[in-house]
Amino acid sequence: LSRTSRPAAAENMPRLPIYQQKERLVEAVRCNAFLVVTGETGSGKTTQLPQYLFQAGREGGKIGVTQPRRVAAITVAQRVSHEMGFTLGREVGYQVRFDDCTSKDTVIKYMTDGCMLREILADPGLTQYGVVILDEAHERSLNTDVLLGLMKKNHCRGGSHSRSSSLKVIVMSATLETEKLSAFFGRCPVFTIPGRTFPVSEQFCNLIGPKDIDGSGYVKEVVNMVLDVHTSETAGDILVFLTDQQRQIFQPPPAGVRKCVVATNIAATSLTISGIRYVVDSGFVKQLAHNSRVGMDVLEIVPISKSEAEQRAGRAGRTSEGKCFRIYGREFWEKYMPDYMVPEIQRTSLTSVILTLKCLGVHDVIRFPYLDAPEERFILSALKQLYQFDAIDRRGHVTELGRQMVQFPLPLGLTRVLLRAAALGCEELMLPIAAMLSVENVFIRPGHPEKQKEAETKHREIASDAGKNNDFTMMLSVFEKCKSSESPSSWCRENWIHWRAVKSAFSVESQLSEILLRIKQQRDFSTEEFEGSQSELFRQCLCSGYFTNVARRSIGKSFCTMDGHGSTVHIHPSSALFGEESQLDWIIFHDVLVTSRMYVRTVCPIRYEWVKDLLPKLHEVDAYELSNVAREEVTEEEVAKWESKEAFKRQMGDQCDSS
Ligand code: ADP
Ligand code: MG
Repeated sequence: LSRTSRPAAAENMPRLPIYQQKERLVEAVRCNAFLVVTGETGSGKTTQLPQYLFQAGREGGKIGVTQPRRVAAITVAQRVSHEMGFTLGREVGYQVRFDDCTSKDTVIKYMTDGCMLREILADPGLTQYGVVILDEAHERSLNTDVLLGLMKKNHCRGGSHSRSSSLKVIVMSATLETEKLSAFFGRCPVFTIPGRTFPVSEQFCNLIGPKDIDGSGYVKEVVNMVLDVHTSETAGDILVFLTDQQRQIFQPPPAGVRKCVVATNIAATSLTISGIRYVVDSGFVKQLAHNSRVGMDVLEIVPISKSEAEQRAGRAGRTSEGKCFRIYGREFWEKYMPDYMVPEIQRTSLTSVILTLKCLGVHDVIRFPYLDAPEERFILSALKQLYQFDAIDRRGHVTELGRQMVQFPLPLGLTRVLLRAAALGCEELMLPIAAMLSVENVFIRPGHPEKQKEAETKHREIASDAGKNNDFTMMLSVFEKCKSSESPSSWCRENWIHWRAVKSAFSVESQLSEILLRIKQQRDFSTEEFEGSQSELFRQCLCSGYFTNVARRSIGKSFCTMDGHGSTVHIHPSSALFGEESQLDWIIFHDVLVTSRMYVRTVCPIRYEWVKDLLPKLHEVDAYELSNVAREEVTEEEVAKWESKEAFKRQMGDQCDSS
């Protein structure tokens, strides 16, 4: 055992509400294939239960605990290894996308739900595991929802997968949705950890109203509110729910100083921060949603649900009485805040999940046991995308390319680019780009106007060194320059580049290149010759995955997308091509940002010939688009569409499960 010291947090653990339930809990896990565990945030579910199961003996194999968020997986693993006195990465470890901190000794493994899905791809029976704990199920993240369905399905098939019938599945959730979860798993028992919380007074401060529904004015009001609380309330730390990124939050403040934690809804249930007495709730959350106007997933700032607001308020009552200040008013609460959040599976693109299911032999992706089934048209549109990228064939079966694609933890289009580049022997150009697109933005934009100018000049220098203006080569150039410089960190500082981000891009690049190498070594990996310049080769590779994101210049500085939506878009000011619009005709772009306008970011000019043969693919299965048929008057043409759609559906999903 890799004990670094005596178990560290013994002083805390017995005081947690879960401690009295230890024996009963272990027994409940032993007696049931499925168990739902619920309890107030902070009662000890995530950090303690895996330890109890570890102590109770683990002949059954590893204990895997999934989290919807990577920060939570890492933080909790750190905490638990510390409590048990182990070195992180030995008995207790974590795995998140592009960061594996486990070893062969790891018994308690915290991981993102996405990583667990990948493990199931490699080993459908999860033979290494005795217990799988799906944590934070109430968050209803896309991957957790799919895992819930897979666990149920695999268990029903216990005969053919004999291992899965002895696998214990525990689903943990805040106090919401437990009945629904239990019903889903054949009315399995619900174990409730009795908790103790203090009353929280709630105030609606009415600082924002219906006109602020777009989420543009709340930050200022939140800051004023915090200053108010600080000057008028007695001692106690403040937790502020905003939509920004999470920072270092666990350090206790020095005596006489009040800590103010600014957090996203990660602090609502995933992490426990001690000392909080006041909560300031902005009422907003940033979430990924399918935007039908744009036809793709877009990050949007939207009002939170009432249940989320209750969770946020509850954080003030962990250790003593508390107060929650809501910057919105009663009217906002009644009119704009839904009772519950729509689960991610019903609002985002399902493409990679559907591909994963197909690769796992789930052919009928429409009748898969979803806790809440996504709308059929979302499933169909995912199938359509998979077909466009040649990941499945017209019969809905996974292609060889699809099996290669599923191995990459990247968006499908980017994976397609990478594989195309590998076939043409120029992956060294695309691997860094895929890596740079997988990490946070590397370009620093300082707040100070003078510094901002300086940063812009530096960035423009890099761009012009990169030759042709285009945001993808710009990233490649940053990656290469930084890598080859004598001191990468000081190169970054001089050029206003985010060193930490580039450093993780280095690591992502080598991991992607390992996956690619493995695939290239397979017998049937075919390669091709390319005739043309390096710049053409580069941009044609990009087209193979970005032909879904093509736009053509229309009037003035605006462009029109070619995906059938015909949306008007503008080049984002952060692009190297901003201001050069008049010289452009066709472009591809990596993503879309919706504010008052629709902006495309990470842009590259292309030639029409390169996408000419690919674009029809976008419309080939358009005939199957259902969306208009639900109206009352259906035209002949739409009936024809409907019929072909039905045929498509039968081919893609409704066939008997081939397994
Ligand atoms: P639950 O999963 O039920 O919400 P956790 O197991 O996450 O509860 O947390 C149980 C307790 O452990 C918390 O109340 C807190 O006191 C402590 N704790 C958890 N994580 C940390 C951490 N990173 N630092 C300090 N204390 C922590
Ligand atoms: Mg928890």
